[in-house]
Amino acid sequence: MTIIKAVRGTRDLLPPETALWNRIEATARSVFARYNFGEIRTPVFEDTGLFARGVGEETDIISKEMYTWEDRARAQSEKTQSLTLRPENTAGVVRAYIEHGLGESGLLQKLYYIGPQFRRERPQKGRYRQFSQIGAEVIGPPSAGSESPLRDAEVLEMLATLLDELGITGWTLELNSVGSAADRARYNEVLRAALVPVAGQMCADCQRRAVTNPLRVLDCKVASDQPIIETLPKIVDSLDDASKAHFAQVLAALDAAQVPYTRNDRLVRGLDYYTRTTFEFTHGGLGAQNALLGGGRYDGLSDAIGGPRAPGIGFAMGEDRLVLTLQALETAAQTIKADAFIAPIGEGLNPAALALAHELRRAGLRIELGEGSFRLKKSFEAADKTARAIVILGEDELESGILTVKNFSTGMQTKVPRAELAVVLKGPSE
Ligand code: AMP
Repeated sequence: MTIIKAVRGTRDLLPPETALWNRIEATARSVFARYNFGEIRTPVFEDTGLFARGVGEETDIISKEMYTWEDRARAQSEKTQSLTLRPENTAGVVRAYIEHGLGESGLLQKLYYIGPQFRRERPQKGRYRQFSQIGAEVIGPPSAGSESPLRDAEVLEMLATLLDELGITGWTLELNSVGSAADRARYNEVLRAALVPVAGQMCADCQRRAVTNPLRVLDCKVASDQPIIETLPKIVDSLDDASKAHFAQVLAALDAAQVPYTRNDRLVRGLDYYTRTTFEFTHGGLGAQNALLGGGRYDGLSDAIGGPRAPGIGFAMGEDRLVLTLQALETAAQTIKADAFIAPIGEGLNPAALALAHELRRAGLRIELGEGSFRLKKSFEAADKTARAIVILGEDELESGILTVKNFSTGMQTKVPRAELAVVLKGPSE
């Protein structure tokens, strides 16, 4: 029989790596809490129209990467509907914001999410078809201050804090402003005109983009197109005064908070809904897929999907890439060892060993439970691999309540009364 394997572009996460995933998520939750964000969980599939309208028909995500299917009606009362596994989470969060009238409070909504996203991309290291994003959005009516450049700077400063607390050193923040919707429209025309004489020498994708969505040309990675792209007009020259002032204030606040950044005129990002500030954090240790996270302001997204005016700013970090970066930096958690391995001597002591394990686990220790049919040598070998100490439980120990403990790091063997066992095994607090 053929063996069924995980689908291409998906993978299993196993211990000990999952401990690193959990640490990343715990750190993110802790940082988000300090900035007063709350968690939102939206469904992993949505009406296809949400992404078509929210992300933009001309993006790679929508045009070729979505997992979409016709969901057949199962009853007369239902309609067949086109559904899509979410390729990103911002559109879902904004849909939820609209659906639950979150803007009616008049307050800023500060929401974060952690969860899987799905894109039919060509799999490679750091790029998967199911991947996990940790993201956050700050969104609200303009009266709540949602358009303020302070919100942009605060989100960026929070990201710098999060990466630092995760132990990710050596990141780079690249920033740009793509202006208001009107600035972008103007720039698109400037770019369209500038592309007419040169598009013929560019890659097939760029030739198409030059007509349908000229801004996307700036995302092109094809080497031979780069010299041509360098000569194209820059978006900063198409920004109106309000957008220029907004960007200047974001930069001033970042300077005050000592968040280092570099400006990148070509950073327009893959999604259509961005306005004004766009940004990306990269890391040299990641190779070709070097983006740790990306984000930006999306002042028109809520309107685009039929909601009230609700400017916002957000980001999505690739959790898979955080894991890869930390592994490369070798700060990753080593295999976590149990506090102790309990070795019953003889199968008759298995129940007593379970009782002892129960007691110690209730006291907060991480315990590996051995097996009474093992010879002592085999128990020692298993214990040495999985735990920091071994506790031997024979008939004598059970009767006397005095247990034999060997600590593998010091090599010391001691006799410990059962009542003191938990404290001794926990060891000196660090
Ligand atoms: P985006 O939603 O395209 O702005 O992506 C935000 C971040 O998600 C990127 O910077 C990556 O870290 C991560 N990411 C995007 N696509 C993938 C993928 N296919 N596999 C792994 N991570 C991804």
